[in-house]
Amino acid sequence: MSLFVLLMGVQGAGKGEQARFITQKYGIPQLSTGDLFRAMKTRQDEFARKIQQLMAEGHLIDDATTCEVVRERLAMPDARNGVIFDGFPRTPAQAEWLDNYLSNHDAGLKAVILLKLDLYTAFKRAFGRVSAKDGKTYNLYSNNEGVEFVFEPHPEGQYPPRLKAVVKVTGDELIRRPDDAHAHAIIKRIDTYVAETEPLIEYYEREGLLRRIEASKSIAAVSSEIESILDS
Ligand code: AMP
Repeated sequence: MSLFVLLMGVQGAGKGEQARFITQKYGIPQLSTGDLFRAMKTRQDEFARKIQQLMAEGHLIDDATTCEVVRERLAMPDARNGVIFDGFPRTPAQAEWLDNYLSNHDAGLKAVILLKLDLYTAFKRAFGRVSAKDGKTYNLYSNNEGVEFVFEPHPEGQYPPRLKAVVKVTGDELIRRPDDAHAHAIIKRIDTYVAETEPLIEYYEREGLLRRIEASKSIAAVSSEIESILDS
């Protein structure tokens, strides 16, 4: 039986972290449109450059392009038995496209899990997050033990300064997502979430698929609630 699950939530709600948990537990891959777009960073063509620019400014990529990227990913063999959608759909048009795609493939969403988080915490989670090469994550405002955070002037004197984070014991520098570096871009992304994506909550509620989880709880507590939803 297939397992198509959708994780919804504002930036910083922990979608990526929980998607990794679902992948480990249920053996289905994560389909993150943000990751798929970020992977285009190495391409030099005009189209890929435009996408990087829109992302850096906190704008959404257009629906047609986004759905095409998702279609290509869903056609891969490892997606046959299901995927966790992370960051897709983000607009009503994308949600309708996904419903049609899945019903044309004799499948459907098992659940839409909304990770609920207040927007102030969402901002701090996005602005303060850094990760190690092995995927371990830290945050300037929470979970910062053993990490030194320093704001350094931008190398070309531009605003904002760079947040540099280093693991004290090993000296390893932690990585910050380029689209998390600008407070303005994060605010833009949160505004876009409220305007474009929040209406989907009602859409999925009407379909009887929506399950809400308080995302300010610990990672383990959220994972365990997800498990009971998916096992029911
Ligand atoms: P994320 O990693 O999900 O926060 O996505 C990072 C950026 O990729 C977003 O701010 C958008 O610019 C773009 N993006 C990701 N998913 C979508 C989507 N479903 N629709 C449009 N743009 C998207």
